[in-house]
Amino acid sequence: MKKNELINKAIKIKGVPYFVEFVEDLHGCLGLTDGKAKHIIIENNGDLKEIKKTIVHELFHAFFDECGLVEYSNNELLVNWLEQHYFEIQKVLNFIVDNKKSSNKS
Ligand SMILES: [Zn+2]
Repeated sequence: MKKNELINKAIKIKGVPYFVEFVEDLHGCLGLTDGKAKHIIIENNGDLKEIKKTIVHELFHAFFDECGLVEYSNNELLVNWLEQHYFEIQKVLNFIVDNKKSSNKS
């Protein structure tokens, strides 16, 4: 994926408008979520796998914020853990769902 394929987007988190912005350099930080400004900033470093992890990480911050779980949002260990397991859980979920489809017993 080319760097310039990632475009800024208006999204909604729990119904609240947020703006996701990609920047070339976030000064030593991969991502940033401003729950007050409803703004997520992601460093577009060209490494899509790393960018996706960062997006997931920042989304957990924003979802916690919008659910009133500010203590969870401020718990960087928790957010890091969720980010690190998100794709693994997604793989297991896909395996379970895909198995159901192919077993044809529904
Ligand atoms: Zn964080």
